[in-house]
Amino acid sequence: AKKGGKGAGGVGKAAGKYTEYGDCTRFDELPLSKKTKDGLRKAGYTEMSEIQRAALPHALCGRDVLGAAKTGSGKTLAFVIPALEKLYRERWGPEDGVGCIVLSPNKDLAGQIFEVFQNVGKFHGFSGACIVGGRKGLDEEKASITGLNILVCTPGRLLQHMGETTNFDCSQIQILVIDEADQVLDKKFQQQVDDVVSQLPKVRQTLLFSATQTKSVKDLARVSLKDPEYIGVHAEA
Ligand code: ADP
Ligand code: MG
Repeated sequence: AKKGGKGAGGVGKAAGKYTEYGDCTRFDELPLSKKTKDGLRKAGYTEMSEIQRAALPHALCGRDVLGAAKTGSGKTLAFVIPALEKLYRERWGPEDGVGCIVLSPNKDLAGQIFEVFQNVGKFHGFSGACIVGGRKGLDEEKASITGLNILVCTPGRLLQHMGETTNFDCSQIQILVIDEADQVLDKKFQQQVDDVVSQLPKVRQTLLFSATQTKSVKDLARVSLKDPEYIGVHAEA
């Protein structure tokens, strides 16, 4: 993969004029790869939800985003799409290892997020897995995890691999997503999340999503959000 990126973004140059993507309402109006557009179409997604309309143009530009919108408003696609596009633009391949990490507070949500990656990302060649707690399959996981591109994880299990799994390397990740950020950044996970983040590269894109908007500056500093776009959506159109 070509690291360091081309930085193609939500503001594109067309016919000598800059096009703004802020007014787009449909996924196919966004500057997305054909693979992602095909995945969205095949999955039946056409119109963007409000949080997607607000967050995607910024996230696709490579900006850090702090997004808040109630449960059921479509936050998953607001980070799955930028994650797929980031790796696609970096020409991420099998040899490049982990390029995207998504942190989720629990196994069930992690599973749902991973399904969306599989569904919308089906035309990309990325590999991935759900890395969640429980004794079952740890050794198997250790054997396969090093070659995967996209990991949807609970903080504890990811930390366990960082500590125990030979050749597991997260030093090249391009994008970190924290879903249900209010829960993941809560006391319960504090030490684990801080340990995980301390082992990730500082140069990366970071996207935080949650149902509530209250996030202290201290929490944002913990995950080193850089000049984030604050996006709050209160009601669905
Ligand atoms: P949240 O994370 O905000 O709780 P989800 O991402 O889980 O919301 O999405 C809730 C539901 O809405 C899911 O069933 C998802 O498939 C659907 N959904 C999301 N975005 C769209 C869209 N643009 N068009 C149609 N359905 C959507
Ligand atoms: Mg969600």
